[in-house]
Amino acid sequence: QKRINRGKISYFDDNLRMQLERIRRLNDRLSFAVQDGSLSLVFQPIIDSNTNLPSSVEALLRWQMDGEPVPPDEFIPIAEQYGMISEIGLWVLKNACIQGLEFQRIIPDLSISVNVSVMQLQGQKFVVEVADILRKLSFPADKLHIEITESVFAKDKSTFLSTVKSLQELGARISIDDFGTGYSSLSSMLDIGVDIVKIDKTFIQDVDKKGLSIVNAVVQMASSLSFDVVAEGVETIDQSEKLYSLGVSHLQGYYFSKPLDASSLCTYLESIKKA
Ligand code: C2E
Ligand code: CA
Ligand code: CA
Ligand code: CA
Repeated sequence: QKRINRGKISYFDDNLRMQLERIRRLNDRLSFAVQDGSLSLVFQPIIDSNTNLPSSVEALLRWQMDGEPVPPDEFIPIAEQYGMISEIGLWVLKNACIQGLEFQRIIPDLSISVNVSVMQLQGQKFVVEVADILRKLSFPADKLHIEITESVFAKDKSTFLSTVKSLQELGARISIDDFGTGYSSLSSMLDIGVDIVKIDKTFIQDVDKKGLSIVNAVVQMASSLSFDVVAEGVETIDQSEKLYSLGVSHLQGYYFSKPLDASSLCTYLESIKKA
């Protein structure tokens, strides 16, 4: 009996120790990532359902730790927890804009969508830093879409509202990511004067059931409040046709394109320009 218990305890011990060691290693390597060239961006088109052409591309962060790809869902929480997200986030913003300028040489109206974590928004200097990047690169502010998750509404709302307002005054557009998964009600969209709502992929992939009512509600609201709606995670032709017929203005997902590296995206943009 005792032996079995001891076995269990040391099994859990080992497991916990391995997890802690992994976090420590990620944390350690991640602190060099901005300098050592192990970060990169991939880009996934967002399709305008009226024209069937990309109106924006979302920049998604990639990290190779000692050559091993680590998914953002694993390393971004660590970057947030250990105070690295601001520096990494600025790297993302700057490099997304630099690439965006390249893409705009092919499709002049193309916007770039950048994910920004709630922690970055809390930084005192964030708005100034965004303004700085835009000015230094001469990047058109109205072509920058800032994606924030609706969890911003769960925290200190008034602070976030003023940050969001300042970003909009710069000319940037605010996109609410993962809509429907968190705490915010559609009425929060009223307060914030949001520009874009991205409906979370769980509802899109379930578009015949519960998803349908969410999509409908957002589309209704969008027409009176005039924000754009993006359906993310569209994987099949059935989903895409359903979403078209529901009046969703923008679509994104593997059905249209996976996230692509910058040069593949350029090839893709060239090919649709010719077509
Ligand atoms: P997200 O912003 O909701 O991004 C959508 C995720 O869904 C991406 O995963 C994308 O590759 C994936 N995806 C796209 N189309 C489809 C589809 O049709 N089906 C399915 N099943 N998935 C699809 P990824 O790149 O692993 O990113 C995961 C999350 O990490 C992102 O979720 C975002 O929250 C975060 N993230 C990524 N890049 C950044 C960044 O630069 N900064 C911050 N703060 N967070 C980032
Ligand atoms: Ca996003
Ligand atoms: Ca999302
Ligand atoms: Ca997400």
